Amino acid sequence: MRYISTRGKAPALGFEDVVLTGLASDGGLYVPEDLPRLSHQELAEFAGLSYAEIAFRVMRPFVGGAIDDGTFKRLVEESYASFHHDAVVPLKQLDANHFLLELFHGPTLAFKDVALQLLGRLLDHFLAKRDERAVILGATSGDTGSAAIEGCRHCEHLDIFILHPYQRVSEVQRRQMTSVLADNVFNIAIEGNFDDAQAMVKASFADQAFLDGTRLVAVNSINWARIMAQTVYYVAAAVALGAPHREVSFTVPSANFGNLFAGYIAREMGLPIRQLVIATNANDILHRVISDNDFSRRELLATLAPSMDIVVSSNFERLLFFAYDRDTGAVDALLERFKHEPASLADAPLERLRALFSSYSVDDAEILETIRDAHARTGELLDPHTATGYRAAERCNRHPEVPMVTLATAHPAKFAEAVVKAGFTEVPLPEAMSDLLTREERYEVLPASLEAVQDYIARARR
Ligand SMILES: *Cc1c(COP(=O)(O)O)cnc(C)c1O
Repeated sequence: MRYISTRGKAPALGFEDVVLTGLASDGGLYVPEDLPRLSHQELAEFAGLSYAEIAFRVMRPFVGGAIDDGTFKRLVEESYASFHHDAVVPLKQLDANHFLLELFHGPTLAFKDVALQLLGRLLDHFLAKRDERAVILGATSGDTGSAAIEGCRHCEHLDIFILHPYQRVSEVQRRQMTSVLADNVFNIAIEGNFDDAQAMVKASFADQAFLDGTRLVAVNSINWARIMAQTVYYVAAAVALGAPHREVSFTVPSANFGNLFAGYIAREMGLPIRQLVIATNANDILHRVISDNDFSRRELLATLAPSMDIVVSSNFERLLFFAYDRDTGAVDALLERFKHEPASLADAPLERLRALFSSYSVDDAEILETIRDAHARTGELLDPHTATGYRAAERCNRHPEVPMVTLATAHPAKFAEAVVKAGFTEVPLPEAMSDLLTREERYEVLPASLEAVQDYIARARR
């Protein structure tokens, strides 16, 4: 399997290099040159298989022989053994034809675990094979940092450094990172805000001299392996609801669009998906593109669904590549324009997207109303991100006869602030994490100085 850049000016790579590389050298994102197909017969054979077995069969063609089957199967099985539910991603029926796909049973209670549990193991496998070490560096204001730490804590060949703004992340989110006491895990609290931390990560990727040649790897959602791993739960959920004999629709709380793009890929591979609904919070660039063809930046808003607070949706570029029928020149030109000024899509690609996607934006007041409403009607307590999905699914469903699956991207205890604001008193942590608030923590507080941070990393790494 070969992977090419959405901008068309970077070399094609195999799976191993794509996993180790992240962003393409021309600024684009890697996508498979040809998508594997899931035949009617294959999908029918998935009925009754375990999640790990479906995962192995769906992802195997993307790996394309870069890892032998036995080893890949073991990595997949280990990744999903860390989930606290036998179904890994259980489906829950909410009403006659609306389902919730619970993606939050992993170690950090949010859907990012599904991809990062596997990505850590893939990186470690390839580094071991090459007899190399790598440093993972990222800045986080919430979910990605903890999921990446949990994904890498057992990796022999990786050291992971995660920067968070000192005293500016919630206690649950901080403790999910700082209570991992593995000796390859380093948490740095920066005396500054998230943008300061992010700027230091960017500067470190731009000039890696401080690492003396050790590879630096990013943990953001542009890594192809994350998309690949997320494609699996669309397949597993659709099969559980009757695919390939029956169509299914999905609604996805979206920000960088990695999650929903994985659903698009599943459909391109042959999964019978009827409709895909994009749910956003008040940071609504994706909704504005689909509804008004307004592809432009707006100021960042801090919302009750903070893991969806973005200005630019990085993985949307991958969707544009397919909407523009793989015309990399057109994609490159559009994204260059978008960098400097408001842009809009050409008619044909926009029509293509509108035939499949609908969108809806949910502001904070509507998030709170939805949490209350969903609880009254179904008994389910939704986290604020999932609430955007629940509301968008109701507002946008064009085919009520087709089962609608809303992806539940986080456990309500992880975002208790919003749930309490909605009027609920207590949101207990799940059992596996009930002692989180008393676990020992370890982190280093550093000034917002690039030199201090790089110096610490260079000395601390193994
Ligand atoms: C990251 C995240 C999202 C957004 O997912 P994208 O792949 O960036 O669209 C939604 N909900 C939660 C809880 C998240 O952590």
